Amino acid sequence: MMDLHKPKGTEDLFGKSMRAWTNMQRIAAKIFDRYGFDLIETPTMEQLDVFTHGIGTSTDVVRKEMFRVFSGANLTRVLEEGSDEGLKAAQRLALRPEGTAGFARAAIENTFVPQGGAPCKMYYAGPMFRGEDVQKGRLREFHQIGVEVLGAEEPALDAEVIIMLMQFFGELGLSKNDMVLKINSMGDATCRPSYRDKVAAFIKTYESDMCPECKKRADTNPLRAFDCKNPHCREIMQGAPLISDMLCDECAAHYAAVKRYLDEANIAYVEDPTLVRGLDYYGRTVFEVEATSGVGAQSAIGGGGRYDGLMELVGGKPTPGIGFAVGFERIMLSLDAIGIDLAGPAPSCIYVAKTSESLRDEVFNLCLALRKEGFRTEADYQNRSLKSQFKQADKLNAIACLVLGEDEVASHTVTVRNMQTHEQTSVAVKDVADYLKSVQQETH
Ligand code: AMP
Repeated sequence: MMDLHKPKGTEDLFGKSMRAWTNMQRIAAKIFDRYGFDLIETPTMEQLDVFTHGIGTSTDVVRKEMFRVFSGANLTRVLEEGSDEGLKAAQRLALRPEGTAGFARAAIENTFVPQGGAPCKMYYAGPMFRGEDVQKGRLREFHQIGVEVLGAEEPALDAEVIIMLMQFFGELGLSKNDMVLKINSMGDATCRPSYRDKVAAFIKTYESDMCPECKKRADTNPLRAFDCKNPHCREIMQGAPLISDMLCDECAAHYAAVKRYLDEANIAYVEDPTLVRGLDYYGRTVFEVEATSGVGAQSAIGGGGRYDGLMELVGGKPTPGIGFAVGFERIMLSLDAIGIDLAGPAPSCIYVAKTSESLRDEVFNLCLALRKEGFRTEADYQNRSLKSQFKQADKLNAIACLVLGEDEVASHTVTVRNMQTHEQTSVAVKDVADYLKSVQQETH
């Protein structure tokens, strides 16, 4: 007997979880549309270089968590040669660990921001893949909804993107008490290098107490030590120099303006000068939303920031950008914890039952007619007794059951059984669609 299971850290989405995922996408589409965003779908796999350049080779995501993809022939070659170095760059593929780098690649390839053009605003929804240690809220295949804006650096835009994120969470049912918005400015090419040096020097002072990763980070990417998964390192980093004391005038003014706009929009936030987003391309505004209940150690339900340097990293012209991504599975944990059911009820239907198998064709035709009228319509396909058809109808969440018998067929009527009240009414076939619409309205 074969015993096959889904890969560790992946989920089958169906029923309730699929309805929740679909609803989340619908709410995102509704809110993001108001801000002028259009949906984009980029490939789930990209050239490896998109991620090594776009995310950075010093990040955990690229160094340790990337799922690589080889077509059959290329895999054979890699196994024979013991490395993928003989492959062309276009043959070295990986599953996307996040959406922004692939989006940047698409923006360059399709010229989303022509010289002097208006900013490009897009959003995506789909699976992301990271070979992480699996735990609650940390999967290997998870789903993100993300937005990206390219081509403008005004602080009003940063604020709008954050406001849009908070409205999205609000629309999902999270209240102000259920989440905390943290913001920071990471500085830019003018002020960040000297800040990085200071943090590197700080780590070197304390390196004997810090994890081997952080020791390395002092040379490769010191700011990431703020994000270290080791609690002791994080504690030490509480005493590190803060970017807020070192922002250049332009970054300080940009950050102040973002906060002013957020204040004007009545968006509550906490400034966290140790908030540095894990990926290489961020600069200036960064933000994260933490859920206050339900998600356990993985409390970040969404985050993002400005990535003014990214487009150059993946081969484009300098183009400012800002975006965020939210994690479907983590949001579900926090919604569950506060009792919000994003999935909603299973869909209802109309069930067409028959008193005898000889009426199969009549049922078939009535089903087709009802579906044309827009009803989700179900029937028995297994020659069940009438009683068991009613049971089936209940299971399928039917609001009404249409019963066809010899008498009904002869008189061009159907008997409509209201599944809530169990009342039965005889209705002419030609009136049945209108009748069902009124039943539907009463039930909703
Ligand atoms: P990031 O791309 O790391 O900034 O993550 C953005 C959001 O995606 C996070 O706030 C989480 O909600 C979610 N997320 C990131 N990694 C995972 C994961 N391994 N499993 C589930 N959700 C994740």
